[in-house]
Amino acid sequence: MLNIVLFGPPGAGKGTQSAKIIESHSLIHIATGDLFRKHMGENTELGQLAKSYMDAGNLVPDQVVIGMVEDKIQENLDANGFIFDGFPRTVNQADALDKMLEKHGLSISGMVALEVPEDELKARIKERAKTSGRVDDQDDEKINNRIQVYNRETSPVAEYYRNQEKFTAINGVGSIDGIYDAINSTITSLEV
Ligand code: AMP
Repeated sequence: MLNIVLFGPPGAGKGTQSAKIIESHSLIHIATGDLFRKHMGENTELGQLAKSYMDAGNLVPDQVVIGMVEDKIQENLDANGFIFDGFPRTVNQADALDKMLEKHGLSISGMVALEVPEDELKARIKERAKTSGRVDDQDDEKINNRIQVYNRETSPVAEYYRNQEKFTAINGVGSIDGIYDAINSTITSLEV
């Protein structure tokens, strides 16, 4: 199995690039933000629980996210592999992911980290706000909080994979196709 963590701050282009990667490599897309938004749309108990955290741009508690991801992995054990998008967002989640994959004799093949400067992230999120309908895209305070949460709680996850020699950084500024080509060559090298 090819199991990729697509990493980067909010607005880095993880969703856009995931869509292209899952198509070309036939992987299962596990995007925790999308899963939470689906639960919110269906007003499930999990959606209600996640809503206040998401609307403020804070992280949903680890145990809730980890349980949701574990269910998705269990449902798709016959897949070619997974692309994790927006997960893991804490070192604790990264550790839990390693353990849950290990239970099935699996592991993370590599992390691909999209690097984008902060002013560009803010500009992209504001542009996306026009059409995304996402409460957390709508104002400067929420956007700033999400970037701060990323810097404080999520960026150490890169170090976690660097220590396992599974980390590749990609410049996330440029054309969508150019960035995809760079990601694709990294992923292809992990397949062999
Ligand atoms: P995203 O769509 O990835 O930007 O995620 C939107 C929001 O969902 C985040 O700001 C968090 O509130 C929540 N969320 C998504 N993934 C996670 C995660 N792995 N851990 C905690 N909260 C998450």
